[in-house]
Order: sequence, then C-alpha cells, then structure tokens
Amino acid sequence: MDKIFKRYTAVQNRIIRAAEKAGRSPADITLVAVTKTWPVETTLVAYAAGMRHFGENRVEELARKRTAVAQQLGPDNGITWHLIGTLQSRKTGLAAVHADLFHALDRLKIANRLANHLETKAAPRSPLPLFLEVNVSGEASKSGWQMSAWEEDATQRETLRNAAHTIAELPGLELAGLMTMAPWGVADALIQSVFRRTRQLGDWLAGELGRERPFALSMGMTDDFEIAIAEGATHIRVGRAIFGSRNN
Ligand SMILES: *Cc1c(COP(=O)(O)O)cnc(C)c1O
Repeated sequence: MDKIFKRYTAVQNRIIRAAEKAGRSPADITLVAVTKTWPVETTLVAYAAGMRHFGENRVEELARKRTAVAQQLGPDNGITWHLIGTLQSRKTGLAAVHADLFHALDRLKIANRLANHLETKAAPRSPLPLFLEVNVSGEASKSGWQMSAWEEDATQRETLRNAAHTIAELPGLELAGLMTMAPWGVADALIQSVFRRTRQLGDWLAGELGRERPFALSMGMTDDFEIAIAEGATHIRVGRAIFGSRNN
C-alpha cells in the first residue's frame, strides 16, 4: 500500500512538473494506471490511494476485474475502465459491455462490430469513446494504421481519413482521438518526433473532419510519459512506475 501510494505520488509530481514545463495544465492530463497482470487486490490498493482510471490490455482481464471491484466497492465506485490493448473481433461484445474507453482501435471491422453491439446493448453507457491507434514509428511489430510516412504519403493519409469518417458516422461510438506507442530503447529525440508527428497527424485529421477542438492523444508510458506530455498527450498509460515491474 505504502509503496504504491509513494510511487503514485511521485508520478503525479512528475506529471505536474512536465505539464508546467510545457505550459500546460496538469488537469488536462489523465493518468491511466495500468494494472495488467496484477491481481484485483492491487487495483483495490490503487483505488484506496486515490486512482480512478484503470487500464487493462486484455478485455477478459478488464471484465473480470471490473466485476470483482464492483462487488467490493459497489457499482457506483467512480472508476473509469480503459481498454488499452488491441481487440480481437470475437471479443468486441465483451468490450462493448465492460470498457468505458477504448484506446487501441486498429481496424474498421472492430469499429463496426463494436457499433453493432453498442446499438443493441441495454446499458446506457454509450457512446464509447475510442482512439485510433496509429503506427507512426513504422515498426513492423506495432499494430495500428500505418502512418510512418503520412506527411509525404497521401495514400496513408486518405486511408486514415476514410476510416475516421466512417467511424465518426457509426452509432454508439465517439471518435476521441489518436493513440500511439513510441519505439523502445531509442534516443529521446526519436521518441519525441514520434509523439510530435502523432499530434500533428491528429491536428490534420481533426481539421479534415471539421472538428472544432483538437483530438485527444493517448501516448506516453512509464519510460516516456514526460516527453509525451511535452508533445501534447492528454492520456498517459502508466504501469511500472506505479506498480513496479511485472515479473508475473
Ligand atoms: C503495458 C502497457 C502500458 C504501460 O506500460 P508501462 O511501461 O508499464 O508503463 C501502456 N500501454 C499499453 C498499450 C500497454 O500494453
């Protein structure tokens, strides 16, 4: 308990410092505490420490923890559950019921299936806000729309714009913004350029869709969230800096 509380406080202070440096308000940055692989007890400890946004990368784990936590704390516990990992199409029903936000939409097919589930769902939690995952770094291992050369490549831009248009028209969904992951183990300057280019892509896309406000940006993890905040992240997804390393 003590350890998690201390680490959480340290992360909050780092967010405040990074925001101040960037001339931004810390209130505009949502810290999503990533509890994947940790037991439900860890989520309850984090809740007692004050955390209210939890991220899971597997939808079954999210559904299981959401249910267990609601049994302990009641259904009106004020928690927002973020699904941060990519979703397989046969699990869209589970996500429609249990996820409050979805950060990793990587295919139109998933959006269509989510919309179908949300349209017929009894629970009045829709629309489901979602982020389009974009692969700006170009790494083959990363999912998301291929946007490694979007500034030069009109085809990449058009593919994303068409997908975004379609998704914006689907019932039950709300296109909230873009999500990206920086490459690992590279220089800060490269990480920074991936985050900056994602923000610029979001600005471009918001303009194409006639949005008045900029898109939200889900980017930044334990090793790079300060760079992400400097580049405009509105949602950071942090696990290890709060809960320690995942050796389970
Ligand atoms: C695990 C995970 C995180 C958190 O990573 P840390 O390095 O523990 O902060 C963030 N985003 C996604 C998509 C993840 O799967």
